[in-house]
Amino acid sequence: MKNIQKIKGTQDILPDISAKWQYIEKTVRTIMRRYGYNEIRTPMFEVTDLFARGIGQLTDIVSKEMYTFLDRSKKSITLRPEGTAPVMRAYLENNLGEARPVQKLYYISPMFRQENPQAGRLRQFHQFGVECIGPQAPEADVETIMVGLDIYRELGLKNFTVKINSVGDAESRIAYKAQLQEFLKPSFAQLCPTCQQRYETNPMRILDCKNEACNALIMDAPRILDALTSDARAHFDKVLALLDQNEVTYEIDHRLVRGLDYYTYTAYEFIGGSLGAQNALGGGGRYDLLAEEIGAKKQTCAVGFAAGIERLIMAMESENLFPELQAGVDVFIATFGGATQDAGFKLAHDLRKQNISTLTELMGRSLKAQMREANRSGARFALILGEDELRTRRASLKNLANSDQKEVDLNQIAEEIKSQLQSNQAR
Ligand code: AMP
Repeated sequence: MKNIQKIKGTQDILPDISAKWQYIEKTVRTIMRRYGYNEIRTPMFEVTDLFARGIGQLTDIVSKEMYTFLDRSKKSITLRPEGTAPVMRAYLENNLGEARPVQKLYYISPMFRQENPQAGRLRQFHQFGVECIGPQAPEADVETIMVGLDIYRELGLKNFTVKINSVGDAESRIAYKAQLQEFLKPSFAQLCPTCQQRYETNPMRILDCKNEACNALIMDAPRILDALTSDARAHFDKVLALLDQNEVTYEIDHRLVRGLDYYTYTAYEFIGGSLGAQNALGGGGRYDLLAEEIGAKKQTCAVGFAAGIERLIMAMESENLFPELQAGVDVFIATFGGATQDAGFKLAHDLRKQNISTLTELMGRSLKAQMREANRSGARFALILGEDELRTRRASLKNLANSDQKEVDLNQIAEEIKSQLQSNQAR
């Protein structure tokens, strides 16, 4: 029988890689705290309507990428393809706005989209993201950009840029769509089949089509910034001014419209310089209309971003940014079976109570095999516990990095390990 394998587009995050994930997650949490964001965890699946209405029927995600199925009671369920709609649903359902007019929420979660797997494009991938719900002020937009920047900076990333645009409010967009259609009308036949559909339904998406013919056609297209209402323009100008005042370098990208329907005003992306075709590290923007799309009675302003962790790992690897992530235990206790094994097991228990991470032999192997295992496990020290050591209550503690050995009293072993670990750290 063939071994069962993982589903295409998913990944096993094995222990040597999970240390990198923990490193990133720890940094994300530190920066979130710095900006006063609190973690929210929403369910991995939701009713399909949340995404269909929230993200928009015509988007790629909803029209072709969602993992949607009927559960046993014939209810349509969807594995979360993105975090914003669920967070907004949770915000509304739990009346979080009543508790605090400004809710700063963050998440680190898996997302699911049935895309064609390739480098940087998976079917289960992971994002961290923020949602700042309540304020309409441009300061909130800029603050979310700064959260992303601080995370990348804290991790040491250098090769990335911030791209920004405004997709205006509903009124700006109606005007702009008409201008764009007018502009593209004479060359309609040259558009790719997808963009021919988009021409009617969602012409702004033609701006980020990857097809070369479409690309060429829209080079001289009118710009949305020229179609903004005065409110939308003022908001965007303030965002840019704040970025300038706070030394954030950015590029205006007239073709940045983002794939989702719910964006209004500011749209931005973090672009990785080393990533190749899938070069978006993260993206976000303002989405003042989402809450009403999913049933809120009144407008709820919000801005946020989501950023991919797999792509961040790729970018960090290409810049060689991961430090030595020591995952080994403090000590490996080698024994010789019988009474020594029981004594080793008990000693491990005592050491762990003192917060010293300890491995002990579980396979009854030879001393040589145990020492090989100790080295492989990355343990800092090995302690060999034989009959003689039990009798004399003294054993030698071997530093596996430099092979130094020191004879220690078994009753003092915890103190000795702690003091050696401390002096190692100080060095
Ligand atoms: P989006 O929600 O599409 O704006 O995606 C935000 C970020 O999530 C992107 O910039 C990527 O870093 C990451 N991302 C989106 N889709 C995928 C995917 N299929 N595989 C891996 N990362 C993804």
